[in-house]
Amino acid sequence: MNPYIERVLNETRAKNPNEPEFLQTVEEVLTSLEPVINAHPEYEKVSLLERMVEPERIIQFRVVWEDDNHNWQVNKGYRVQYNAALGPYKGGIRFDPSVNLSIIKFLGFEQTFKDALTGLPIGGGKGGSDFDPRGKSEAEVMRFCQAFTSELYRHIGQDIDCPAGDLGCGSREITYMYGQYRRLVGAAEFGALSGKFVSSGGSLGRSEATGYGAVYYLEEVLKHDGLDIKGKKLAIAGFGNVAWGIMKKATELGAKVTYFSGPDGYIHDPDGVCTPEKLDFIVEMRAKDSAHCAPYAEKFGCEFVPNQKCWGVKDVDVYMPSATQNDVNLEWAKKIADSGVKYYIEVANMPTTNDALQFLKEQKHMVVAPSKAVNAGGVSVSELEMAQNAERVYWTAEEVDAKLHDIMKNIYHSSVAAAERYGLGYDLVAGANIVGFQRVADAMMVQGVF
Ligand code: GLU
Repeated sequence: MNPYIERVLNETRAKNPNEPEFLQTVEEVLTSLEPVINAHPEYEKVSLLERMVEPERIIQFRVVWEDDNHNWQVNKGYRVQYNAALGPYKGGIRFDPSVNLSIIKFLGFEQTFKDALTGLPIGGGKGGSDFDPRGKSEAEVMRFCQAFTSELYRHIGQDIDCPAGDLGCGSREITYMYGQYRRLVGAAEFGALSGKFVSSGGSLGRSEATGYGAVYYLEEVLKHDGLDIKGKKLAIAGFGNVAWGIMKKATELGAKVTYFSGPDGYIHDPDGVCTPEKLDFIVEMRAKDSAHCAPYAEKFGCEFVPNQKCWGVKDVDVYMPSATQNDVNLEWAKKIADSGVKYYIEVANMPTTNDALQFLKEQKHMVVAPSKAVNAGGVSVSELEMAQNAERVYWTAEEVDAKLHDIMKNIYHSSVAAAERYGLGYDLVAGANIVGFQRVADAMMVQGVF
């Protein structure tokens, strides 16, 4: 391994011993940058990698809110402002009991390269809280979002840091946050938060963007092999907003999602989740209870396999893990490789453990695509939302979609070209890391050392 990368990895491990998710992503990204670092000895002289792995700023705060029984609840709040070399910090807010600093730092580090990969002027950041939105009333969600924003507002702004949603934080939560932000700053500064409802400064196409973008990316991967997406069968994990977008776009293009899953098990629907009734049901089911997808099987009379993941099923063309981090470990990866399915397209952030990812990449019969490229459509349309807010205009759904489509094609083709340029062949994972890294590095190199 390049000695500079090795040294930075060792230092990062020593400095952040209790942050496994963060170390996992740093290892994955840095090791794939070997040919770039070999070609640029000047980076070590200005401690570029050391600066890149250390967030520019970490904000941690207390969130106090009143529940419906008039008890005061206290949660932790986080915002990691990772790197703003390319533009204002941009990235989602995650509300989930699993949220801790390691997870927010891992997501922020990934986000920095993802946002760079879009080619748009945005830096990387991420935030969240250990607040559990499950089972909370509408009023509790609103009060929590207001309390969260009462602290966060002083750190964000349309030219500073522009949070959006992520797991457990959708348009409803973001728009409550925007309402509180507007009240506190006394200005209609829509661009400070993205993923808002369209009735309140949001962009058409934002809720579909991550799923649509993933399918546009998949189309390019298939085209590379001379294949059409029409008729393809997809197995995905998850049934949230991203999964729904994939189901919708796949249907529109003549493909179908025949497997999807929740924390309770997986569904096999051989006809595909492709009618408006089924798609609407997914949204309702998710809103009622994000922990169970079994009701779909009861409603539409198809198979539900409890407590299992659908990785390893043979009657599909593509796997798309779209739920959460580390869903696929080495054991599942072996099942995936044995199934003979060629395409493994990550959608959720870091859905694969590093050993599993390495193993899948080594399978000669497989093509592996990385989440930071595949799911970048979401943040891309968030940036388009900021652009509309700045111009005080609304674009049509078609205008937004056309731009999203172009961005996704660009991400794919620039990744392919970067890997080839460094003699790595058709390596979508390394290619994405290289493009993202190079853009951030280029900006940091000309902004001076700080
Ligand atoms: N949370 C999403 C992501 O990871 C969206 C971020 C955004 O729209 O800013 O990219």
